[in-house]
Amino acid sequence: MLNALSIDLEDYFHVSNFEGYVPRSRWSFMPLRIEESTMKVLKLLSLYRVKATFFVLGWIAERMKSLIREIRSAGHEIASHGYDHRLAYEMSPEEFRADIRRSKSALENAIGERIYGYRATSYSVVRHNFWYLQILAEEGFLYDSSIFPVYHDRYGIPEWDRFPKIVEDNGHTIYEVPPSTFKILGYNLPIAGGGYLRLFPVKFLAYCISKINMNERKPAVIYFHPWELDSDQPRIKIPLLKSFRHYNNLHNTEKKIAHLLKNFSFGTISEIISLKGRS
Ligand SMILES: [Zn+2]
Repeated sequence: MLNALSIDLEDYFHVSNFEGYVPRSRWSFMPLRIEESTMKVLKLLSLYRVKATFFVLGWIAERMKSLIREIRSAGHEIASHGYDHRLAYEMSPEEFRADIRRSKSALENAIGERIYGYRATSYSVVRHNFWYLQILAEEGFLYDSSIFPVYHDRYGIPEWDRFPKIVEDNGHTIYEVPPSTFKILGYNLPIAGGGYLRLFPVKFLAYCISKINMNERKPAVIYFHPWELDSDQPRIKIPLLKSFRHYNNLHNTEKKIAHLLKNFSFGTISEIISLKGRS
């Protein structure tokens, strides 16, 4: 079964864990490591002949057009991760619309093609900003991959469906493609990637993906970030829990991803929901 692999393309200092510690006004002065870490990702994907969806920050697309073109010319799908990593539920509907328009046009200018997919910063979709799906559909997006059906202090709609489905709202339709969870004792355990991928043993992750594929007959949706393959990144002083979430197990992420790529089939999100010719 074809699973979806996604990469949230942001640099190590863009993350929500650094919000308040590396203000946006300092971003332009930070040493960028994204080019090098993305090259590592592209090499890994080409080694296992995997095509993936890259959710790219507009801020990066404006500064590094050739990097985004290189990803696209390697056959990967380009989609939006918003403009400058603001949490969706901290924006008003008008601010959200302006943010996705800005990111979409930065990406479309970089690659000269339309884009169709979106993933919110840190999965920042909760019950009270549910209007965001309608705005995405109005702005021409065909799918979203932001609703995490889990309990978490910053995000999640725990009762949301665990697998891709079409959402119809006010005459608009959009595919929602949630990151993967594993059902255990009636609880949705997040296993999709990022901090979870770094926390759990890879054999456990492989077990969960095979159960999702074989027992539930559904694709898994997995994600990671280029900075998770960059264990030499500068260390930024942040509180303990945030520090653990960002730096835990950076040294073996690449090996874990390689193990999954070797043992399962992966493609783009557009492919698993059959948006033909758009991946
Ligand atoms: Zn992100």
